[in-house]
Amino acid sequence: MDKFGKRFVGKVAIVTASTQGIGFGIALRLGLEGASVVISSRKQKNVDDAVEKLKAKGIDVLGVVCHVSNAEHRKNLIDQTIKKYGKIDVVISNAAANPSVEAILETKESVLDKLWEINVKASILLLKDAAPHLSNDSSVVIVSSIAAYQPAASMAMYGVTKTALLGLTKALAAEMAPNTRVNCIAPGFVPTHFADFLMRNTAIKKAIEEKTLLNRLGTTEDMAAATAFLASDDAAYITGETLVVAGGTPSRL
Ligand code: NAP
Repeated sequence: MDKFGKRFVGKVAIVTASTQGIGFGIALRLGLEGASVVISSRKQKNVDDAVEKLKAKGIDVLGVVCHVSNAEHRKNLIDQTIKKYGKIDVVISNAAANPSVEAILETKESVLDKLWEINVKASILLLKDAAPHLSNDSSVVIVSSIAAYQPAASMAMYGVTKTALLGLTKALAAEMAPNTRVNCIAPGFVPTHFADFLMRNTAIKKAIEEKTLLNRLGTTEDMAAATAFLASDDAAYITGETLVVAGGTPSRL
């Protein structure tokens, strides 16, 4: 018997920044549950490798190069999806950058612009392109972060862009209702390439683990399970919400 259900049979799901890490984990989970998945990232080789890995699991997958802050790439991602599948049921907006460890007031304007561009604006523009093709029972999940609630000093401005995504989720949920639900996940720390700079320091790693109630870091599978839930009909009466997936790390009441 399959470990997972088949909640996405007949559905088409786009996942951005999905050739490794959390995005890949989400694409894998949606695919194992029956979705046709459209994966993407900046580098063709990463796209090709990830396509092969998903195909090897029996998943129907289309791979497209898409740097999320490039307008032509975003358009091409949507165009290729429609050309192959004719519709979009699920969009997972997962891409983010964290180019700085500086204090906010020390951060260069160009870096502030990049954080806004990739972490917030690109999500909006991708959804703008996708909107005309979304099916009547569609769902969007935006990937924020535990840092949205309490930005750590080493990732303060990144955290602020992730806070913006909580508001964006609420605003888009209202705008896109009733045919499209919009929700958000706020992952705790997951030892991916993205979190490398923190995980290499064992003292920081231990401090992060100790902040959780479950005494461990998150996994890409943890994030994929929560995302798949929100994207599925199991969450049919949930919209505008953020699900914190952080092992009990303090976030909000
Ligand atoms: P990751 O393992 O470093 O993977 C990043 C993926 O994004 C790669 O496939 C990369 O491929 C692609 N990518 C990077 N920049 C891109 C861009 N501008 N446009 C398109 N694709 C891009 O990262 P991750 O940890 O899974 O992070 C994914 C999301 O989770 C991010 O939104 C991050 O903020 C969030 N998050 C992560 C953690 C954590 O602890 N890991 C915690 C909270 C939230 P290419 O190099 O080929 O582009």
